Amino acid sequence: MNFNAGPAALPLAALERAQAELLDLGGTGMSVMEHSHRGKAYEAVHNEAIALVRELLAVPESHLILLLQGGASQQFATGPMNLLPAGKSADYMLTGSWSQKAYKEGKTVGTVRVAGTTEKDGKFGRIPAQSELSLDANAAYAHITSNNTIFGTQWDKFPETGNVPLVADMSSDIMWRPIDVSKFGLIYAGAQKNLGPSGLVVVIVRKDLVEGGRKDIPVIFQYRTHAENNSLYNTPPTFSIYLLRNVLDDVKKNGGLKAMEQRNRDKAKLLYDVIDSRSDFFSTPVDKAARSTMNVVFTLKTPELEAEFLAEAQKRKMVGLKGHRSVGGMRASIYNAVETAWVKALADFMREFKA
Ligand SMILES: *Cc1c(COP(=O)(O)O)cnc(C)c1O
Repeated sequence: MNFNAGPAALPLAALERAQAELLDLGGTGMSVMEHSHRGKAYEAVHNEAIALVRELLAVPESHLILLLQGGASQQFATGPMNLLPAGKSADYMLTGSWSQKAYKEGKTVGTVRVAGTTEKDGKFGRIPAQSELSLDANAAYAHITSNNTIFGTQWDKFPETGNVPLVADMSSDIMWRPIDVSKFGLIYAGAQKNLGPSGLVVVIVRKDLVEGGRKDIPVIFQYRTHAENNSLYNTPPTFSIYLLRNVLDDVKKNGGLKAMEQRNRDKAKLLYDVIDSRSDFFSTPVDKAARSTMNVVFTLKTPELEAEFLAEAQKRKMVGLKGHRSVGGMRASIYNAVETAWVKALADFMREFKA
């Protein structure tokens, strides 16, 4: 039972399909990794992956889907390189370590400002209310991290930014539920939490922002380059994109994002219910309204108890429950591919451990 924060559990069906097709993609007698990225066999996989992103997230025609490399961290730089011209400034809402990193990287590219932060003594336990934000109506864009993987908080209702394009790092909660993509100028997500293998990053970006994007940066970093070439300008990470296809196909077969949302809400409730009903034993530093459905962060009374908890969990074949080194405590990452039965087993174990 894999509760890793990322790379994380993948749907078994997606892996089994990869196993079955590893030596022979669609009767070609070759692995997907051995095919030309310009050939028919690979192109079908590539286009299916993109089509599945569009279908599952109901991405409107106004937006393009790009499959790029370098993970979310590279997008911390590539986003501003494309969208933040000289003379403009960009807003960042700081809700955790990843948004701090995005902000820092943005600063290396241009002028950035903090439009809101929930930092308190080096920690982030909540999401800001709209009234706490000081948004610049002339900003090039306003950036959020939709789910804070390390601190275990998540935006429920996204902030209103008026005409300023909303940019979101959705690495750890993309596709956990349906969203209105038209509200965003740019969405990016490293694949290794909800979509597939690490290194690959899915970018969804408004066409007019691509067209109006900066041209004074290297060609390889321009969204325009990849948009004009259907993400085949350079050799893409074909095996990673193949796995993305398998994962998304499995999501679709399991009822798409509506079904995913119900399943994810049910899983999160199983754990938060145990924490709330045994609050003398388990606690969570996270504001109730900001609780993540993807990363459930909780603590026990002492480091000794926490060590024992982890050791006992390991005996029950539960892995990946140790909190991030910067926060401590426990973290159960319960992404799309984490099965309800595993979460039930964890909830049962928590009750038993307390007893
Ligand atoms: C994991 C994660 C990242 C970093 O992804 P890389 O692929 O390592 O660059 C960035 N943002 C969020 C919200 C994450 O969860």
